[in-house]
This record gives sequence, structure tokens and C-alpha cells, in this order.
Amino acid sequence: MWFNEEAKEIEKKLSTNIINGLSKEEAEKRLLENGPNKLKGKKKKSMFMLLFEQINDPMIYILLVAAIISAILGEVSDALIILLVIIINAVIGVVQESKAEKALEALKNLSTPKAVVKRDGEIFEIDSSDLVIGDIVVIDAGRYIPADIRLVEAANLKIEESAFTGESVPVEKHANIINEGDSLHVAEQANMAFMSTLSTYGRGIGIVIATGMDTQIGKIAKMLDTEEDNTTPLQKKLAKLGKTLGFLAVGISILMFIVSMFQGRDFLTMFMTSISLAVAAIPEGLPAIVAIVLALGVQRMAKQNAIIRKLPSVETLGSVNIICSDKTGTLTINKMTVKKYFVNNKIKSLEEIDKENPESKLLIEGMVLCSDATSKEGVQTGDPTEIALVDVGNKVGIFKDDLLEEHKRVNEIPFDSDRKLMTTVNKYGNKFNVFTKGAIDNILKISNKILINREIKELSQEEKDKILKASDSLSDEALRVIALGYKIIDSENVTIDSLEKDLIFIGFMGMIDPPREEVKASIEISKKAGIRTVMITGDHKNTAIAIAKELGIANDISQAMSGAEIDTYNDEDFTKIVNNYRVFARVSPEHKVKIVKAFKAHGNIVSMTGDGVNDAPSLQAADIGVAMGITGTDVAKGAADMILTDDNFTTIVNAVEEGRNIFTNIKKSILFLLSCNLGEIVALFVAILFNLDTPLLPIHLLWVNLITDSFPALSLGVDPGDKGVMNKAPRNPNESLFAGRSGLMVVINGLLIGATTLFAFLYSEHLYPESLRHAQTMAFVVLSVSQLFFSLSMRNETRSIIQVGLLKNTWLIGAIVFGIALQYSIITIPFTAKLFKVYSLTIKDWLIVILISLIPLIINEILKIFYRISEEKTTSS
Ligand code: ATP
Repeated sequence: MWFNEEAKEIEKKLSTNIINGLSKEEAEKRLLENGPNKLKGKKKKSMFMLLFEQINDPMIYILLVAAIISAILGEVSDALIILLVIIINAVIGVVQESKAEKALEALKNLSTPKAVVKRDGEIFEIDSSDLVIGDIVVIDAGRYIPADIRLVEAANLKIEESAFTGESVPVEKHANIINEGDSLHVAEQANMAFMSTLSTYGRGIGIVIATGMDTQIGKIAKMLDTEEDNTTPLQKKLAKLGKTLGFLAVGISILMFIVSMFQGRDFLTMFMTSISLAVAAIPEGLPAIVAIVLALGVQRMAKQNAIIRKLPSVETLGSVNIICSDKTGTLTINKMTVKKYFVNNKIKSLEEIDKENPESKLLIEGMVLCSDATSKEGVQTGDPTEIALVDVGNKVGIFKDDLLEEHKRVNEIPFDSDRKLMTTVNKYGNKFNVFTKGAIDNILKISNKILINREIKELSQEEKDKILKASDSLSDEALRVIALGYKIIDSENVTIDSLEKDLIFIGFMGMIDPPREEVKASIEISKKAGIRTVMITGDHKNTAIAIAKELGIANDISQAMSGAEIDTYNDEDFTKIVNNYRVFARVSPEHKVKIVKAFKAHGNIVSMTGDGVNDAPSLQAADIGVAMGITGTDVAKGAADMILTDDNFTTIVNAVEEGRNIFTNIKKSILFLLSCNLGEIVALFVAILFNLDTPLLPIHLLWVNLITDSFPALSLGVDPGDKGVMNKAPRNPNESLFAGRSGLMVVINGLLIGATTLFAFLYSEHLYPESLRHAQTMAFVVLSVSQLFFSLSMRNETRSIIQVGLLKNTWLIGAIVFGIALQYSIITIPFTAKLFKVYSLTIKDWLIVILISLIPLIINEILKIFYRISEEKTTSS
């Protein structure tokens, strides 16, 4: 058993080395031998199953029955065509769906947790799947434990093991407690950490003892079957719409069949026509098209550094009207440089720092020792705030490695954004120095003395006020202030609780973290797009407002509120005033939740960023939780809807724009397909009602509906982004798809397509009175070609096809050319012409067909002129 053996034994057993880790070659060898450290997912569906799912649809059943009846009645070509259309449609469906699935799978891989591992004496971050037995793994707060691990070092390490125990309170871990006995429950193994549990506090190091399916979690395989519901609100609405349309279609078909029987039409033809009308009325291709457009959209977003973790968020993104953003690293570049420092009651420029001065020396030593970051010969690891401090040491020749060798760290309390403090205990001769660094107010709260000119004095209120005034003046210059206190203790064996109190104040350092260059423009763009940017930061109010002013987020300190001020309001009162503020400073993670809730209570759609372990609740409370990809913990990433791989605010704004574009594009596809379906119904229904000949044969409808329509619909789904989307207010998420002009447009366009098809049919009957087949051919071609042309108009509701750039959507142009070529081939190749019961058209016929087919497009473009005029009037009045 791993938990009841000494770490040294395990090190030997697994032929590894706790200090240096495995060699890279050995790790590679073990990876080949034992396979990747992955839990096996669910079995992939077979090709046959995928095809079956496509065919397992009531509409397809109706078609199959139609095919069988046609075959029995001797209409073999009809039967064949129907079968062919079903097969082509199913294959397109499978291809699209598997493409969408692959895209989402790739995204999932992008956001899987990494592991920090020691190999050949160096520390790396690697994919967790590359871990092997014997690897030495470093654990820090906020990380998922990447494999089953026997701990060899644990500094205040706490791990949340709810995956096994259901208990969400983290348990303390100790490397040196060796439990007796052989059969301890997972929860009782204090020196073990298990895959998929979560470290919430402290640090640790351990040896990997099991990977992949051999881990404890791997043994409970059923946990992997939990699948998230990844259907978006729009997809849910569409499914409902599909059902309604289904009922409607069946109703209309039955009605048409009854009417035609009264008219004494041929039973078989009308039976088939009714069935095809039902099929024509339902946009079968829609769900697949929506899925693929969504998948392509999130793939594009991933390339622009925004990884969508939950598909429904793509739609919500487009509706976001408040972006709450962290300051450090998101609005700023997160490269800190110390500019000023304060000791002995004086602010000085860093250039003047002198290590011969005892207070300055202690300030530097304390700051460097109380940091986990490293910075050596230009190579840096860790928190940028701490890197800046270590660099001050480097500048004056106080190097971290040397210091640590002399003053070994014997205890520590890690930094967290609630306390805003960090403490280490270091050996100084026979005694121990406690160093605590952190936010100035918090350091002053736990200090009662001050070191001034080699003397330790009482820290009076007057003195405190002076220090605060000095630190405020640095904050006003947008500098982040980190203060330091210390005390000397005799023994290292003290309780953790006794460390952060009764300190001696030494001084502070002020560091600059410049705003990211591109952020100002992005904030301007969001303003135009009706989106408010709110800064949320753990930093001081003055530092925050200085940066906020520079970026255009706020213009006055009255728009800033501190965490302490938030605490003075209850939830209800806070909700009343929250809209007056643009900056929340000195906040802790709980405040973030309160802020999100207050904004949401006003009906806003709120996005919130976060990186720490404690940020998970606010990320979950927000409509769009955004985690930092670089500085974020696994916990924050796990709770987020979106991950920024570059931690950049601008990426959020770009993602919102992309989200808006994806939604409008999907809407274009949907409205296009619905218009086309309505057109088919109109053409058929009017013909039957007025006792005309049947203008379209079932196979024509099926073909247009399932094949020629799909390509322009897909191309509309990938329409290049419209620059105008960021000049509009955010979309109301409850708004219907048919709100505004959209519903009316579907009706108008349906009528237009139906009317032009009928017109072509009647005109052809007039030209060639002896040939019904010729007229049906003309109707068939006009139906498909008019839809192809009209798709161009769908690219924008108000701007003309020239204004949006006629050739800009090359996919759409390709789809139109391809569609016309397909149509031409079908009626010209003798074999297909026979199958489709069509004639080859003359050049003159084609000319007529093309002219008639342009009518819906032209009328749409004329209508847009009126829309533009009325829009101009409303904006100018
Ligand atoms: P933002 O929320 O804008 O990203 P932040 O995440 O950096 O800011 P915190 O990390 O919560 O905010 O930091 C809040 C305060 O805690 C800082 O203003 C600083 O005074 C202090 N602080 C930050 N990092 C450390 C650290 N490593 N050690 C000690 N104190 C720190």
C-alpha cells in the first residue's frame, strides 16, 4: 500500500528521484509502456449508429413509406429518387455533425488541465496526459490533482475530495503521517492526493503512483458518463418551432389532399404531393446547419484566444451588456516594476535605494524571502508582483538563492486575495524572522510597532495616518503598493494563527503595471456597442481609479467604491446604487458575487472575469464566467463558460462581437430556410386551391429542400462578420427570432418565392401549352434558382447587396454557382432528366428563368431602400 510506506521506499520502488525527478528519456519510455494518463471516455458511436440516428426521424419514415408505395405502384424512378435524397441527406448530416463534434472535442482538449512536473532537475508544465508513474509532481493552490500521488512534501496543503467523499470542505494533507493498516478509505489517506480532486490551499510535492484508468477515479468509471446539456437556448427554441411546423405541415397536407380529392385529381399524384408538401414545410436541414455554424464559430473564437467551454454561452455572449473585468493582467500587462519605496517615513525613487541602510536592507530581504517567484538571468517564474520584488533584490545584489540558503524557509502562509497577505518564517541565526507582506491597510492592521532609523517604536495612529497618506500618494500615480512587516520569534514551533499579528512595520514598495495598449480602443468599442465596462480589483481604490481614468472606464473617484463600503450595504440597498459605479476596489471574491447579483437584478447580462480558487462562485453567478488561461487556476477554469488564453480584456470584447455575429448568421440561415419552405407551400397550395395543374413534383420539392437549399444556408451561417454589429445595442435574450421585421420578411419572401415559381409555371404553360412537363421544369428551376439568388439579400437586413460587398461571402457565391450548375446538370443530363421527369431547357427558357428568379432578390433590395430611409428618419428625429 502506498500510504503506509515511507516516501523513500516508494522512491526506490518506482526507480525515481524526489529531488530531480525522472529523466526525460525514462519518462518517454514509461509513457510508451503504460500509455497516456487519461480516463477513457464513452465509446464512440459507430458510423452505422450515426447514420441510423439521421434516418430515425418521423419525417424520414413518411418519406420511406412514400418510396415503398411508389415502388409498389410501379413508379420506380420516384422511389429511387426519394431513397437517394434520404441517403444524401443522411450522409451530409453525419458529416456535419461529426465535424461539429470534432471541433468541440478539440476545444475540450485545449482547456484540459496541465500538470507541473520535475524532470532532469527542472520544472515544466506538461499536459496531464503525459504524466507517468514515478514522475515528481508539484501541486499548488487551485490545481486539479493530475494523477494518484503519494505526497513527499506538503506546506499547509488542503485538498477538496468531494469527487470521492461528497464532502466539499477541503481536508488537510501531511506528507509525513504514515497511516497504519492496509485498507484505509480514500478520505483517510492523509499522505495521498487523488486524481480529479482539487488542491485549494498551500503547496505540495508528490510521486505519481498511478495514472489513467488505474487511478482511484479511473476505477469509478461511471462518473465519466455525466454529460452536460450542450444545447443552446436557440437550439431549444428551434426544436419547439420544428414541432409546431411539423403539426402545421401535416394539417396543411391533409387539407390539400382532401381539397384535391374533391377536385377529382389523380389519387397517387396527390398522395405523393401531400407527402412532399409536408416534407417541404419542415426545414429538416436546420438543426444540423445550426450545430455546424455554432461549432465553426467557436473554433474561430478559439483561434482568437477565447475558448468556449459551454456551447450555450455563444448566444449569451452576444447579449452581454456589462463586462466586469479584473484589472491586473486583464486590463494591464501584468509586468510589474518597482518604481518607489518607503522606509523611515520617506518616499524615495528606487534609484536611490541603498542596501547599506539597515531598514532598506531588511525591506528588500523580507520582500525577497517572502516571495515564491524566481527571477534569475532573465528567466522568471511566478506572480509578477513578486517577480518585481525579487528583481529589486537582483538590482542591488541581494539574490534570492543566496538569501534562502542562509535563511531557510521553515513555515509559510500562502497569499490569498481574501487576506491580501502572505507570510513566511525564515531562519535568522538561532532565531526566526516572520515576514508578512501584503496590502498596506492589512499590514497596518496587524502591526503595532514600527522600525525607524534602527529603532523600534510604538506605531501610533498619527504614524499610521502618515504612512497611509504616503501610500495614497503612490496609489494616485497608479502604483500598486505592497507593504512589509516583520517580527522575531524564538522557535519555529508556533501555531499558524500566531504569525500574522503584532508585527513591526518596515515600509513599502510601489510598482507600476501599465495598461495594455489595445484595451482603451476595446473599451471605446464596447461603449458604442451598448456595453459597460466595470473594473473589479483587489488593488487600492486610488490605484484602480488612476488606471480606470486612463482607460476611459471612469472619470471620477466618485464612481469608485471599495469592498469595505460594499459591506455597509445589504444586498437590496446595494442593488439600488450599483449602477452608479464603474470601479470596485479592494474587493474580495465574495464581493464579486454580490456585484454580479446586483447587476443581474437590474436585468443586465453580466460577464465576470476571475482567476483564483475563490472566484468560482462569482464566475458561476455571472451569465458569462470568464477565466484567465495563463494566470487562472483549474478551479476558475472549471467554473467558467469561457477561457481567455491571453488573459486580455480585448479578447472578451472580440468574443462578444463574434458571439453577436454567430447569432445573426444563424438567424440568417434560419430565416432563409423558412422563407424557402414557405415559398414551396405557397406555390403548391395556391395551385391546388385554384384547381391548376400541379406545378412541382414531390421529387422536385425534396431535392430543392434537402440538397440545393443546404449550401446557401450553410454559407449564410459563415457570413463574414458585419462591422455594424458593434454599433448596435445588445440583443435582448428573450427576444423572438421573428421580432422586428424578421417574421414579416419570412412571410413576404415566402409569398415572393411562391409567386415567382407559380408565375414561371403559368408562363411556361402559356408558351408551351402542350407540355405540362416543360412547365414543371421551369417551375422547378425557378424555385431553386430564385432561392439561390435571394440568399444574397439575406446577408443583411437593411444594407444592399452591393453595400455589404457582393462577392465578400465567397462560400455563398460558390454555393449559388454550384446550385445553378447542379440544376443545369439535372435537367440536361438525359439520365437525371428522366429520373426527375424534367426537360432540357432552351437558352431562351434559361433567360426567362433567370430573369424571373431575380424578382424576389430585386424586390427585397427595393424594400431595403425604404427601410434605410425610415431608419435614417428615426435616427435623425
Ligand atoms: P485584480 O483583481 O485587479 O486582478 P489582483 O488580482 O492582483 O487584482 P489581488 O491579487 O487580490 O488583486 O491583490 C490584492 C492586493 O493584495 C494587492 O493590491 C496587493 O497589495 C496585495 N498582493 C498582491 N499580490 C500579493 C502577494 N503575492 N503577496 C502579498 N500581497 C500581495
